[in-house]
Amino acid sequence: MEIGFIGLGKMGFPMARRLIEAGHKLTVFDTSKDARDRLVALGAAAASSPKDIADRVETVMASLPSLQASLEVATGPGGVIEGTRVRRFIDLSTVGSRMAVKINDLLAIKNIVQIDSPVSGGVSGAEKGTLAVMVSGPRADFELVKSALDVIGKVFFIGTKPGSGQTMKLANNFLSATAMVATSEAVVMGVKSGLDPAVMIDVINAGSGLNTASRDKFPRSVLPRSFDFGFATGLMVKDVRLAVEEMRALGLSMEVAEAVGRLWEVVIRDEGPESDFTAAIKPIEKAAGV
Ligand code: NAD
Repeated sequence: MEIGFIGLGKMGFPMARRLIEAGHKLTVFDTSKDARDRLVALGAAAASSPKDIADRVETVMASLPSLQASLEVATGPGGVIEGTRVRRFIDLSTVGSRMAVKINDLLAIKNIVQIDSPVSGGVSGAEKGTLAVMVSGPRADFELVKSALDVIGKVFFIGTKPGSGQTMKLANNFLSATAMVATSEAVVMGVKSGLDPAVMIDVINAGSGLNTASRDKFPRSVLPRSFDFGFATGLMVKDVRLAVEEMRALGLSMEVAEAVGRLWEVVIRDEGPESDFTAAIKPIEKAAGV
């Protein structure tokens, strides 16, 4: 299938590479020329703008770092919306349901279908093609692109309601964000009283405290103090803020989410948006004096 791909970062690059390896014909764009060149070296064609891509192919995918970037790429000047050939826009980014609905409605004016497809599973999942892909949009268009999405990971059709894939993704990432800070607090409590953090993680992973932070993030990034898991604090805070907003918009007051949201605001203030999100343990250690 001919596919346009916009946003070739930590997630976009390995997803686009897998699509090329699976035999799809890719035309790519990223504001970073280096990112574009890396894909061209693997056989992709380079485009000069989102519109240029949308003039050349019917199906455009995007993996972008902010709500504003998705909105601009999809509907701004020089965006996908101005393309002459494009029929559908598959957004693999996490933008929250309100932004997904806004993009959906603006594209619909030009008869472009939005297929909302946020993903979960991190850079290693993107490399291995094992991401959870949470799709919402018209079923007929979904069926047309499902074989390409299968290359990226395990595909779940969440519903036809615009933005429902995003709601699913925010529920997932709220849990991932909570696991990270809750496991950090548990480990810091142990360290403060003299326990070995490596032993603690082994015990937790053999016990009922097992979670994605104790299973993956602590052994690979926190215990070796490398803090290089591959997901930026700025992106995690974006997702936590979106999850809290989503709950509030539904009239819900969720106590754990509010507390987790406050903790992540401390992490982004102290560690900065470019830090790896596994650095969330550092302000917790600092406050505990360990
Ligand atoms: P990233 O910052 O590594 O990559 C984003 C890429 O988009 C960069 O190459 C950047 O140059 C490019 N870009 C930015 N603005 C652009 C524009 N206007 N036009 C074209 N290109 C532009 O981000 P990432 O970690 O790959 O995350 C991408 C999306 O995937 C985010 O929505 C994130 O929340 C989501 N996500 C990330 C992970 C992860 O583990 N990193 C996991 C699941 C979901």
